Amino acid sequence: MKRAELIAASRRVVVKVGSGVLTSAQGLDTRRVAELAGQIARLLEGGRQVVLVSSGAVASGAAKLRPGFTPASIPEKQAAAALGQSRLMQAYEDAFAAHGVKVAQVLLTGADLHRRKRYLNARNTLFTLLDWGVLPIINENDTVAVAEIKLGDNDNLAATLTNLLAADLLINLTNVEGILDADPRANPGAELIPRVEKVTPELLKAASSQPGAVGRGGVLSKVKAAEKAARCGAATIVANGTVDGILDQLAAGDDRGTLFLPHDDPLTRRKAWIAFDSEPAGELVVDEGAVRPLCEKGKSLLAAGIVTVRGSFLAGAAVRVLGPGETVIGVGLSNYASEELGKIQGLRSDEIEGRLGYKDYDEVIHRDNLVMFDLEDEESVACLLSS
Ligand code: GLU
Repeated sequence: MKRAELIAASRRVVVKVGSGVLTSAQGLDTRRVAELAGQIARLLEGGRQVVLVSSGAVASGAAKLRPGFTPASIPEKQAAAALGQSRLMQAYEDAFAAHGVKVAQVLLTGADLHRRKRYLNARNTLFTLLDWGVLPIINENDTVAVAEIKLGDNDNLAATLTNLLAADLLINLTNVEGILDADPRANPGAELIPRVEKVTPELLKAASSQPGAVGRGGVLSKVKAAEKAARCGAATIVANGTVDGILDQLAAGDDRGTLFLPHDDPLTRRKAWIAFDSEPAGELVVDEGAVRPLCEKGKSLLAAGIVTVRGSFLAGAAVRVLGPGETVIGVGLSNYASEELGKIQGLRSDEIEGRLGYKDYDEVIHRDNLVMFDLEDEESVACLLSS
């Protein structure tokens, strides 16, 4: 599909703006905020629904406390985020009011999105705001996020929201032109990649060596986010948000930045949540004989194929499925608790009742609750799971 057609067809757009676009050493760049607000207002006028994911709380909070201050410890960064988040929202309130757009602040942590119920609550809230014609402005709730519940970076948050909202386009604004084919410091001839049909191991390698921006996510996290969005059926454009009018240009179909195309056969939203956002609590290692039926024939996982159970989890928990070589080959929701699985692993389904005294399910993971990855795709899958 041509870029202009893809953009023209997009109806729901997640715009993510990085700290490097919004802040300088002097703090929040209110001229940039106003400029972006004008462009987002035009996207809305054009009939699109927009959700804005904005970084910049830590950087603007640090400058608000004391010009030139760099928070070092985690509590300092979290405290800076608290100072900066209100500053950021104040700037957005003012900038969008000039265009008659009402804004709402939504702060999320990983724990909110890893639990299915909270995830669905967040979705209901966001859809209600969109129905009211309000622009949700989302950031990670940095002041409470500790390592275990961290989303990691706003690139990942934006990709999760793209799936949650079934958005068709993610525009990731950063302070570089897009994704280059090599590290420009080592290769002065490095060139912008205009279009990515598939994230390859070579692209991941090129991205991981490129210098990061001011925020938490570097170039690699932008590629990972784009791959996640692509697997959920959305296109992504990574472009330079410090260029005036960039969103207007992109909306007009101009060739700027790097466009990542959506996968042809995307996961359903629920399966994408299971695969990328469910936070597995354990691992099930399967034997060689189980791999093909699971990966190629779309079968459910049965107790007979399980050789090792790791972790302590209740029925309903998300678990990773590992092949005999210990690579992750899938993620699914287990019908049985780890303790039960320890007793029934290796058994045929008609032997489960004899061992447990009951049998609630024939399958350990039903195919509807199971996402198997393409084995050819090992590296891009591994990179998504480690984010
Ligand atoms: N949540 C952080 C902030 O608002 C930014 C995280 C990121 O840049 O990815 O400062």
